[in-house]
Amino acid sequence: MSFENLGLSSPILQAVKEKGYITPSPIQEKAIPLVLDRKDILASAQTGTGKTAGFTLPILQILSATPNQGRRKIRSLILTPTRELAAQIYDNIKEYSVYLDIKATVVFGGVNINPQISTLKNGVDILVATPGRLLDLHSQRALSLANVEILVLDEADRMLDMGFAKDIKRVLALIPERRQNLLFSATFSLEIKQLAAGILHDPEMVEA
Ligand code: AMP
Repeated sequence: MSFENLGLSSPILQAVKEKGYITPSPIQEKAIPLVLDRKDILASAQTGTGKTAGFTLPILQILSATPNQGRRKIRSLILTPTRELAAQIYDNIKEYSVYLDIKATVVFGGVNINPQISTLKNGVDILVATPGRLLDLHSQRALSLANVEILVLDEADRMLDMGFAKDIKRVLALIPERRQNLLFSATFSLEIKQLAAGILHDPEMVEA
């Protein structure tokens, strides 16, 4: 299996090649075609499996196929538990999108909110966020989630462990009901299964 067989466009394939990836990892092989097919997915994957490219590459392709008209609106929201993970995902998106007209940014707590507000004002297509800071920014009217088409919950088990269940519910109330949902978790407790059942529509199961 090669990246060329997964249905990715040439600007993305070029960026992947320049990252030095030769073959897709198992999770990428399974998840990328399903996401491109606009399926909801429930993926069991640990860090280190290549899961980040498994969701960011197809999201980049979907969004670049129908570009924003006028000011960019947040069309994909990626929620993740920690600032380190958020920053890593954002760094990956930047590298994978060098040949695309896609703008992403990252917001997390523990740092000054004002630069984040300024960046958001210019408009972004993809927002990577930790839940608490996302809600802060929303309550300050620094962003709108009314145009989100693709939601990712990354490391969903860690988000629940860190007490983000309520924040996730609040975020869900702010985004359109009709959307694609991708949920990644290393473990599947009853709580994760309940969260997944409330969010995902007819999900495809993917294992790393
Ligand atoms: P992740 O599990 O998404 O945190 O990725 C773990 C590491 O594997 C990151 O440093 C990625 O850049 C790298 N990686 C992801 N996909 C591939 C691939 N297909 N081939 C080689 N390295 C990869």
